[in-house]
Amino acid sequence: MPATSLDTIVSLCKRRGFVFPSSSVYGGLGSTWDYGPLGVELKNNVKRAWWRSVVHEREDMEGLDAAILMNRLVWKYSGHEATFSDPMTDCRACKARPRADHVFAAQKGRDPKGLPEINAAIEAKEMACPKCGSKDLTPARPFNLMFKTSVGPVDLGDESGLVYMRPETAQGIFVNFGNVLDTMRRKLPFGIAQVGKAFRNEITPGNFTFRTREFEQMEIEYFVRPGEDEAAHEMWIAERKNWYGKLGMRAENLRVREQDMHELAHYAKRCVDLEYRFPMGWSELEGIANRTDFDLKAHSRSAENPDAVGELKYFDQEQKKHLVPYVIEPSAGADRATLAFLCDAYEDALVKEPSAEDSAKLRELVESFARSAGRREGMDAEVKQRLVSTAESIAAGLPATLPRLIGLMEDSDAASIEVMKKVRGVGEKIAEENTRTVLHLHPRLAPLTVAVFPLKRNDARLVEMARGLKRDLQRAGLRAVYDDTGAIGKLYRRQDEIGTPWCITVDFQSLEDQSVTVRDRDSMQQERLRAPELAAALSQRLI
Ligand code: ATP
Repeated sequence: MPATSLDTIVSLCKRRGFVFPSSSVYGGLGSTWDYGPLGVELKNNVKRAWWRSVVHEREDMEGLDAAILMNRLVWKYSGHEATFSDPMTDCRACKARPRADHVFAAQKGRDPKGLPEINAAIEAKEMACPKCGSKDLTPARPFNLMFKTSVGPVDLGDESGLVYMRPETAQGIFVNFGNVLDTMRRKLPFGIAQVGKAFRNEITPGNFTFRTREFEQMEIEYFVRPGEDEAAHEMWIAERKNWYGKLGMRAENLRVREQDMHELAHYAKRCVDLEYRFPMGWSELEGIANRTDFDLKAHSRSAENPDAVGELKYFDQEQKKHLVPYVIEPSAGADRATLAFLCDAYEDALVKEPSAEDSAKLRELVESFARSAGRREGMDAEVKQRLVSTAESIAAGLPATLPRLIGLMEDSDAASIEVMKKVRGVGEKIAEENTRTVLHLHPRLAPLTVAVFPLKRNDARLVEMARGLKRDLQRAGLRAVYDDTGAIGKLYRRQDEIGTPWCITVDFQSLEDQSVTVRDRDSMQQERLRAPELAAALSQRLI
C-alpha cells in the first residue's frame, strides 16, 4: 500500500530519524521541523541531484550562494514590501485567523480573483470559518509575510537597522546578475542557480514539511533575449518534469498545471506549476514562471528607482546594442521535493498472515484502546478523534491493517493511553514478523547506499572482513554502514524501511573465495559478487 495519509510518513520520519519536531524538549515550536541523521542525508542528496542536473550537466548555467540578509532596498524595489502578502480574516466567534483566499477556494470551489471578491463574499455571508462554521468574519486584510530583524549592536526602536530574512532566494540572483555576467564572460542565454534558506511568516503553515516558515529553495533564473522567452519556458517545463521522473517519481503522481490569469503574480507573463499528488491532494511542488524583464528593470537606476547604482542590462554583440534580458524562473522547494520523494517511495505490505489467534488478541486490544481513548478526558478533541477513528479502522481491518498499526504504536499521543502498553507488548512482535515497510527511493537519493553485515557477529573473521569491506566502500565515495545488531532478516527489514538499496552479507564462503551476497531492496533477489569489485559495481549502478 502506498502512503495514504501524511501521518504514516510523519510517524516513519520520527521513528527512523528523518525528521523531528523542532525544540521538542520545550514542547516544540508549531510547524518547525529538524532534519535528523537520515533526513539530512536524503535532503542533501535531493539538493545534490538538483545541482548536478541544473549546473554541472549543463553548459549554460552558473551557481551562486548569496547572503540571506540583504539591503532593505532590494525588497523595496522588488515589490515585496508593498505586495508580498496573504489575505487574512479573523473569525469573531472562535478567534481563528484563516487565510481568506484558502477559505474562499475551499468553499466556492475556485480561486478568488482578488481581495475585493473575497470581501464581497464575506459581506454576503457566503464564507464560513473553517474551524467553527460561523459566518461572522472580519473583512480580509493583507498580511506581509516577511520576517523582520535588525542589524547593528543596538536596536534603536526605529527602522534604521531594519533588514528582512529573505522570503525567496531569487532576488539574490537578480542583484548579482551583473557580477556573474562580467566575471564569467557569459553570453545569452544563460542561467544562475542557487540553493538556500528562505523565510515566510506563513499564516497557515502545516502538512508536515510541505508549508513551513523556514524552508529551503532551489531556484534558477534563466536569462534570454526577449522573444526567446516562450521557447525557453517550454524547455524548462520539460526539463524540470523529467528531473523528478528520472529520480523515480511516478508519472501518475506528477502533473503540469497552467496558472489562471488571476493567479499570476504581478510580474509574471505565464506560470506553470508542477504538482505532486501528496496524500492531502494535488499541491504545488515547483513553480516555473516567465518573469519577463520585471526584476532586472526594477533593480536598475531609473526615475522610479533613484537608489540603484547602475543598470542591469546586457550588451548584445550581434545587434551592437544594450537590452534587458527576459527571465524564466524554475523555483522548487528542497523540503517539498524531499517530502514528495518520501511519499512516492513509501510502501507497506503484509508479507505473512499472522495466526488467527494473534489477530483476534490484537483486535481485542486495539478495540479496547479505541474505547479508552474515546473516554479520555482533557485530551485535545482533534487528537482524540484521530486516535479513535484510526484505532477503530485498524481493528476492523486486521490482519490487513497490521502495517498501519505500527504508526499507531509509535504515535506519541497514543502513548499517553495506558492500554497502548499492552497493544505494544503484543503488537510489536507480530508486526515485525509479518509486515514489510519499504522506501523505494532512487539509489542516488537514499540516505544510505549500502549496509554491510557479518553472518555471525561472534566470528572475528567475518566481522573483520565486513568492517574492512565497509571501509573500502566508504573510500570509494559510497555512503556505507556496518551493522551487526540483529539477525540478518531483521537487519534487512530495518534497511528496507529507510530505503537502503543494497545490503551485503559476509558469510563463511566469503572467507574462502572473497564473494559476498548482495541483496536488492526492491526485488529482494540475492546475487554473489566479488568483494574487491563491489565498489566499482555499485558505483556503476548509481549513475
Ligand atoms: P504556495 O502557493 O504553496 O504558497 P508559492 O507559489 O508562494 O507557494 P513560490 O513563491 O513560487 O511558492 O516558491 C517556490 C517554491 O518554494 C514552491 O514551489 C515550494 O516548493 C517552495 N515553498 C514556498 N513556500 C514554502 C513554504 N512555506 N514551505 C515550504 N516550501 C515552500
